[in-house]
Amino acid sequence: MSDSTTSIPEKTDVVIIGAGIAGIATAWYLNQAGVNVVVCEKGIIAGEQSSRNWGWIRQQGRDEAELPIVMESMRLWQEISDQLDSDIGYRREGSLYLYENDAEVARHDDFYAMAPQYGLETSRIDRKQLESLIVDCPARWTSALHTPDDGRAEPGLAVPAMARTCESRGVTILQNCAVEQISLANGRVDGVSTERGLIKCPAVLCSAGAWSTFLLKACGIRLPQLTVKASVARTAKAPLIFDGNASGSQIAFRRRHDGGYNVAATDSLEIMPSIHHLRFLPDFLPLIRSSLGKLKLRFPELQVDSNYTRHRVLNPIPSRATVKRIRARLSDRLPMFRDIELVESWAGMIDALPDVVPVLDKADSIDGLWIATGFSGHGFGIGPAAGKIMASLIQNNSVGYDLSRFRLSRFSDGSRLILGPSI
Ligand SMILES: Cc1cc2nc3c(=O)[nH]c(=O)nc-3n(C[C@H](O)[C@H](O)[C@H](O)COP(=O)(O)OP(=O)(O)OC[C@H]3O[C@@H](n4cnc5c(N)ncnc54)[C@H](O)[C@@H]3O)c2cc1C
Repeated sequence: MSDSTTSIPEKTDVVIIGAGIAGIATAWYLNQAGVNVVVCEKGIIAGEQSSRNWGWIRQQGRDEAELPIVMESMRLWQEISDQLDSDIGYRREGSLYLYENDAEVARHDDFYAMAPQYGLETSRIDRKQLESLIVDCPARWTSALHTPDDGRAEPGLAVPAMARTCESRGVTILQNCAVEQISLANGRVDGVSTERGLIKCPAVLCSAGAWSTFLLKACGIRLPQLTVKASVARTAKAPLIFDGNASGSQIAFRRRHDGGYNVAATDSLEIMPSIHHLRFLPDFLPLIRSSLGKLKLRFPELQVDSNYTRHRVLNPIPSRATVKRIRARLSDRLPMFRDIELVESWAGMIDALPDVVPVLDKADSIDGLWIATGFSGHGFGIGPAAGKIMASLIQNNSVGYDLSRFRLSRFSDGSRLILGPSI
């Protein structure tokens, strides 16, 4: 991998801003098509959301427009992981929504009705069937929604391994290389200005996660985007009770490749609008209203703005109250883990858009500027397919999906925003 002393290329075909799953997956497919790519990363590969997430690769519960894309992503995850130099823990052990009552069951009625239309196997299972999936299943869970084909992978391993393979195939990845500005001439992209100099190129992909809104603002583009802090913990090695992903109204857990579990509280997200984000709050009112009790407004502890080198890696402190809640709920919901230690906790800043689905589009006002951002809490799973889509769009190839739900102009053309299922 390059370091800050590596010289930067003077020009390339495409510059990708951000070495998260969106940027690296796009680089993967552009490289496969023979396009020259440089990825600029202000910090380290997958330093932000892409290494901090729960590691669920799930089709279950997805927005209808995302569903066919994430279904393709499952196949791509397998294809990609077969080509990597190490095991990233990609397994398809299924996902469960665990239900305690009928009201919880009803929350997924729409998805349950939709899944078969896309050929996705998803079934409602009763207590007896649940007992055959979860060892010593606690009595409070009376039924579940089961998507047996859903997957998981280790976020800390996946994108770095993809990046190594990309580099071995000729992609240049510059770490500690913040893009300060997308450079424009005559209404089109002509390069990027980085902290280490200018790189000329006719196409740029903005896949800068929580920072995208600021890069785009400098180009005259309004992207209403907020940062939402999510805290997670992991257990020490623990008995195998379920090998996939499971979430109930209070707790979510996911078996890790190292024999522990990632655990989170399903109702504890913190919106952290900086002074620059305040102007977007009206765009987010429907989401905030629909998630009352789950989303809390908090004073920002970190400044996310157009100073891209202040936080090389956005590393928020996990909320102490949330980690305490995770501990209490783990003991309460999964009593067999009462004595299992939480050995680590961390947090990540989700880059949310008002309707919690991403932008996968070009900027209409600027030729050569492409955008893949705002994955709103579920970009890891869909990442490979999103990257493949962006690589096709950048090459002016057709993609075979209806991407109208992901257009940038939905935030400015007066459309009524339709909220996706959840953050
Ligand atoms: C706690 C948590 C749990 C989650 N759980 C799941 C899950 O289970 N399943 C799932 O599918 N998704 C999950 N997500 C969401 C998922 O992690 C994200 O949607 C996804 O990783 C977004 O990828 P990205 O590449 O768009 O952004 P990021 O991974 O945030 O990458 C953006 C990169 O751009 C870089 N960058 C920014 N500005 C610049 C600049 N000016 N110059 C150069 N580089 C720049 C940043 O440093 C960063 O590395 C979760 C997220 C969090 C935080």
